[in-house]
Amino acid sequence: MQLFSDLYIDGQWQAGGDNTRFDVINPADGSVITEFAIATEADCMAAVEAAERSFPAWAATAPRVRSEILRTAYDILTAEVETFAEIMVRENGKSWSDAMAEAGYAKEFFRWFAEEAVRIPGEYRLSPAGDKHIIVTRQPIGVSLLITPWNFPAAMATRKLAPALAAGCTMILKPARETPLTSSYMIDVLERAGVPAGVVNLVTPVPTGPNVAKMLAHPAVTKLSFTGSTEVGRELLKTAADTVVSASMELGGNAPLIVLPGANLDLAVEGGMLAKMRNGGSACTSANRFYIHSSVHDEFVKRFSAKLSAMKVGSGLDHDNDLGALVSLSERDKVADLVSGAVAAGATVVTGGTSSEQGAFYAPTLLTGVKHGSAINATEIFGPVTAVVKFDDVDEAVRQANDTIYGLIAYVFGEEREAMNVAHRLQSGMVAVNRGVVSDPAAPFGGMKQSGLGREGSTEGILEFLEEKYIAVSA
Ligand code: NAD
Repeated sequence: MQLFSDLYIDGQWQAGGDNTRFDVINPADGSVITEFAIATEADCMAAVEAAERSFPAWAATAPRVRSEILRTAYDILTAEVETFAEIMVRENGKSWSDAMAEAGYAKEFFRWFAEEAVRIPGEYRLSPAGDKHIIVTRQPIGVSLLITPWNFPAAMATRKLAPALAAGCTMILKPARETPLTSSYMIDVLERAGVPAGVVNLVTPVPTGPNVAKMLAHPAVTKLSFTGSTEVGRELLKTAADTVVSASMELGGNAPLIVLPGANLDLAVEGGMLAKMRNGGSACTSANRFYIHSSVHDEFVKRFSAKLSAMKVGSGLDHDNDLGALVSLSERDKVADLVSGAVAAGATVVTGGTSSEQGAFYAPTLLTGVKHGSAINATEIFGPVTAVVKFDDVDEAVRQANDTIYGLIAYVFGEEREAMNVAHRLQSGMVAVNRGVVSDPAAPFGGMKQSGLGREGSTEGILEFLEEKYIAVSA
């Protein structure tokens, strides 16, 4: 398998200006996969300038041409889906089934936005006074800085690359340091699909913050699209304010999952497993706080913990394993600390609660007796730990579900009418009713409150990379 471990600037793979590199680690066994080039400030500026130079021609490229390049990228990724998945398994640690699921989801953004590229909307209407024609066109917003996290190294990038390319923008992709190889592979795919030099650039600066701030301050950069933690998102919003850069933010979550009295427990257990264990729990959409009605609590816990205990844990390179590694030993230790804190605060470990001796694995875990507002309930766990709060009163459960600064996604299981009623009351950008997954390239993904600004995917996703222009013509 060919791995790309250099920067990609103006259509050239290149080492960083000072020829330094960082290790990319396989978290399943701690081995070094490769050393990736570190971008200097000069490299970052060169990437911005390449994107600036290539912008006029790419913006003027016919939508059909842009569309077909995106469709070709989708076709290449489809043909190479196992390579795509294996790179993610190696650098991120996820299980094979999670990697294949992500590869499938990630490549769909190229197909979806290939279709959206040729459907960019505009308007034409007469002013109320009849004195002019109001023409509203949409044009690409310009050079865009795309920053992505490690947990979904492919999908979080394609959810930005595809609409930006479809809109006619040029861009700099800055992946997470833990997972640059998935991004560099996708850049190679885009090059093979026919994306011209300079349109997409890849940099991995160290340190990150000051170099990102320099790129944001460059007058050519007009768009920031960030996926990552709320803490970093807040800092980036402050930096973006200095030059009034348009910012789209996909930030952290703390998803509640509510099982109402009368819920179908088969559905709740099956959906809950997907909502919790997809991507080993390292998902912004991961169900973080389980609120289970007392009438079904014991049965739910029994069935859920049986499913968790039956999971096979180990390297994703063995396709039979259900749960892979966390991305690093430090992420694993963070999860272990949250569990021991919860136990010290009175929670009971029903299953799991142990770290592996080797590799960054953590056992599938279920805790009961967790208190609303405790550290594990208020913190994004980002690991395979199910923390259960028992409730008696539905209104109180809804209040507790909304008692957070986050509002990305919520899950409700119950009789449909009651579940829909609760869904409408939840302060959340997305709500899953009687199911465990909502993500779909055709649906608007994004959060309320401090979980984000803007939406990705769907018809909204491309609008984040377009700017409206009103032209007045005398009638
Ligand atoms: P993170 O915020 O630590 O890092 C995200 C990206 O920002 C990485 O590329 C990182 O290198 C970069 N970064 C870090 N510090 C920076 C700085 N000072 N300036 C500029 N860039 C900086 O997040 P993470 O640990 O990689 O990912 C996990 C987080 O991402 C979780 O909070 C999760 O909920 C969130 N997430 C959200 C979504 C969503 O769609 N809402 C999707 C996936 C992950």
